[in-house]
Amino acid sequence: MSFCLKCGHATEKAIPAGDSHYREVCPNCGFIHYENPKIICGALALWKDKVLLCRRAIEPRYGLWTLPAGFMELQETMEQGAARETWEEAEGKVAIDQLYCSYNIPRIGQVYMLFKGQLEEGAFGAGEESLECALFDEADIPWDSLAFPSIYRTLKHYYHDRKTYDFAKDQVPFHLETISGDDTVIE
Ligand SMILES: [Zn+2]
Repeated sequence: MSFCLKCGHATEKAIPAGDSHYREVCPNCGFIHYENPKIICGALALWKDKVLLCRRAIEPRYGLWTLPAGFMELQETMEQGAARETWEEAEGKVAIDQLYCSYNIPRIGQVYMLFKGQLEEGAFGAGEESLECALFDEADIPWDSLAFPSIYRTLKHYYHDRKTYDFAKDQVPFHLETISGDDTVIE
């Protein structure tokens, strides 16, 4: 059973007039509880061709490696969100270049927006949510210990694109993809 955020009355599942989806609707005060996808912002933070990764100190995927990323906050842009997450998780300052990869994950109502950027002075630490952070060369990427498919795909794109396009001339493609399956939760 769910309860109204406004008045505490038990809600009911109903399709509001003019709507197409079932919602939790309050029969007492009429409040409609909309649920919509969440945006996750993150950074592919680069330093001399190395990629900044964080090893998660939180569930899910404790101990696995990820790009710094997390839920976008109110009152910020996506770029600001990506930079904030890089600071919070890796204590690194990233100068955002461009939007690089975006993933729909409709099964769990998430949208990833991952930006390419430069890690300023190659400096980083490890935030509260990270066991450790490190800069990786391609040969050292822990492919079997990555936390999420979105991270795996982004790194694959990066190493493919870097060999295929001239990044120095800003010939960097943008990737929009949809991820299905069960293996996609972030919290
Ligand atoms: Zn209510």
